[in-house]
Amino acid sequence: MKRMALVTLLSLCFVMPVNSFALSNTARVPVLYYHPGVASSCDYANYASMAFAQDLELLYQQNPPIHVIPLYWLAEWALGQRDGSTLPDRVVAISTDDGPNDVWIDVDAGGAPCGGNRISFKRRIEEFRASHPELNLQWWEPHVSNFVIASPKVRQLMSGGPNAPQFWTDDWWAAANQSGFMEIHNHSIDHDMLEVTERTTDPVIGVDLVAAGYGTTGDWVGHGNWNKIDNYLSSQVEISYAASYINLKIAPAWPDLFAYPFYGPCGRFECSPGQTAVIDYLQNFQNEHGLLAAFTTKPEYVSRGSNRWMMGRFGWQADWTSSSGLQSILNGATW
Ligand SMILES: [Zn+2]
Repeated sequence: MKRMALVTLLSLCFVMPVNSFALSNTARVPVLYYHPGVASSCDYANYASMAFAQDLELLYQQNPPIHVIPLYWLAEWALGQRDGSTLPDRVVAISTDDGPNDVWIDVDAGGAPCGGNRISFKRRIEEFRASHPELNLQWWEPHVSNFVIASPKVRQLMSGGPNAPQFWTDDWWAAANQSGFMEIHNHSIDHDMLEVTERTTDPVIGVDLVAAGYGTTGDWVGHGNWNKIDNYLSSQVEISYAASYINLKIAPAWPDLFAYPFYGPCGRFECSPGQTAVIDYLQNFQNEHGLLAAFTTKPEYVSRGSNRWMMGRFGWQADWTSSSGLQSILNGATW
């Protein structure tokens, strides 16, 4: 009987992989991103946190489940700095862009179009965890990394000025970063936002904006165009000054990841020659920006062959607008 058990055990060892809890070196992993908030109507295609909640169900109902790991861990794995044996075998990472309060706070937006408070990403995570004890979720999952716009002045302008309700505050960044299931990362100092209509001083950070004005065009008006970040100084202000301010808010943590603003060739599309200044800056001034990796909005899977400064992401609304659309993205992954 003992011998029988031993034979059974040996044969099990033979047919089972050494470690089934491991991300393969040949995996191609989707990174997802959302723009939190509500557009024209209260449904999956227009209400980000509603889509997020349904997407979590879709991910964890796969057989076997797909785990939402911290984006930082995925970047480390892609760069060969983290062994796949420290990660689940089927994974995605999730991020949000721009840093509206909808990430962490149930926003009272006057009722329309979803009635009452909009449900935050934080509450969606908490509700998902509470409703799925059977999943035995790790402390860090499902995890969301949030790319925020650093400049307080620009975020105030985006809210409609100092006297309007503020929808882009930074008083929740520290709590989110300490929650275990969220992190705060870098989405530039000003996003070249259209709300900046003239050369504007950010008195908190101590620079003039938009930072593109420090580039060769000398254009201080926001156009939503990152092509204008075309030299050392404009790159430094957009990326490293942003990182320093975010660090002040989440200290001792440093925002290790960067996401290019949506508009501009290092966002959704390939970097043009004009963007080489940004890439040169990322490659050569790591002592200033302290970044591990940078993410585009180009819908490409992350693998161990990914470019450190051009890792792809798939966007809700941009690349999928329904559960079946997300399923197609998952079907294209390799684990
Ligand atoms: Zn953005």
